[in-house]
Amino acid sequence: MEYGDLYRQVQRQKYDCLLFDLDDTLYPLSSGLATSVLKNIQDYMIEKLGIEESKIPDLCNLLYKNYGTTMAGLRAIGYDFDYDEYHSFVHGRLPYENLKPDPVLRSLLLSLPIRKVIFTNADKIHAIKVLRRLCLEDCFEGIICFETLNPFHKSTASDDDDDIEFLGSRQPSNIDIIGHFSQPNAGSSGLPKTPIVCKPSESAIEKALKIANIDPHRTLFFEDSVRNIQSGKLVGLDTVLVGKSQRVKGADYALESIHNLREAIPELWEADKPAEANYPGVTVETSVIA
Ligand SMILES: [Mg+2]
Repeated sequence: MEYGDLYRQVQRQKYDCLLFDLDDTLYPLSSGLATSVLKNIQDYMIEKLGIEESKIPDLCNLLYKNYGTTMAGLRAIGYDFDYDEYHSFVHGRLPYENLKPDPVLRSLLLSLPIRKVIFTNADKIHAIKVLRRLCLEDCFEGIICFETLNPFHKSTASDDDDDIEFLGSRQPSNIDIIGHFSQPNAGSSGLPKTPIVCKPSESAIEKALKIANIDPHRTLFFEDSVRNIQSGKLVGLDTVLVGKSQRVKGADYALESIHNLREAIPELWEADKPAEANYPGVTVETSVIA
């Protein structure tokens, strides 16, 4: 045996967990799901929350920028609605048929002798549907999703059963965030906080790591979102920007497609333990980490 081979064999694998975002990371942006998600969020804001159509583009942009997701932002500025209803409206009508089984990615994942976990801001139903469509549902140990980080929904408007009609309506305490940012020198300090826990908040990532018992210093984090990559880096994760060929600040690697994984990071296959075929016992669906 060559000295180099021997040296590699006694080296410890650098990572013991691979943490994957789901949407636009495990399948390409060109599938069209992201465009439909945005359209459905805007329709929800108009139809269910009664927001004026002319305000939607600015509002979506400001909420997404300041709160991580439009949903988190809507809750912060005073709208209340049922989380499950929101998710089924936004994800229920997506063109899931555009997602096809991905045997290339499946075989890459199954050949990796490292723990693999999904971390998405989306809800559990969406995550499982996407993984099933891609034929990847048995490739992951678990899913950290919206419900994992937000297990309790204490609605401010639905405490009283008689208030059911009030759900989704405009609350008296609503904040005019468009007005706020139209002021000279307006910043995000002083904006109300959201009760929703989601990426790219560093505390949300830390909470997810803790729940799934993941050591950030031994984990590689795959994401298509630059700001999620940057937050991931700040909490100690090594990072892979997916969908771009150029690295950005905070990204240790960049992959045009997740399919390029083996060429870009061959060391992932140089483990100090034998490869595991898959996760026995998790055949029907990947368990949600709660
Ligand atoms: Mg994504």
